Amino acid sequence: MVTDAEARLALSAALQRVARWSGAETVIQSNGKAESVVVPTPAAALAIARQLEFAARAEAIVAIRRLRGEGRSWQVIASLLGFDSLSDGGVVNPARLAFDYAAGLPRPPLFGPPQFVWVCPECAEVVGDTGPVGSPRQSQRGHSDGCKRLAAEVDAWDGQSAAEMRDEGT
Ligand SMILES: [Zn+2]
Repeated sequence: MVTDAEARLALSAALQRVARWSGAETVIQSNGKAESVVVPTPAAALAIARQLEFAARAEAIVAIRRLRGEGRSWQVIASLLGFDSLSDGGVVNPARLAFDYAAGLPRPPLFGPPQFVWVCPECAEVVGDTGPVGSPRQSQRGHSDGCKRLAAEVDAWDGQSAAEMRDEGT
């Protein structure tokens, strides 16, 4: 795993590189030692950092699409996103939070329930994923008839639901 310090170092290098490429406005900043460094102005740094933020999010979404395609659950993705270890302990449903992070808010013009789209490697169809709620038969629309991947996920879900009902019955 990348540490926070390593991520900050990589980001700082990327910010400096983009500033040079784009000819961003710079200022000379003293670093407290003998030499001074040329850095982007705060306005240029903000604009570049925001673009890097968009680019990082786009990379995260591509990775999540691939993970869902590989059959990783929203729970596993939540763990990779660090949502199951948030320090405030206030996350009731990390899997749902991971879905919301990936799918985003309802969008105009329909404002329908958010969907996260990925390609099923088994049936090669585009799946509209509505998140970790209910049976995969309802939450993963678009698989072809007889898709083995969907059938396996539905079987797993049915088994889990039956186990939960047994637990509640005791
Ligand atoms: Zn499928």
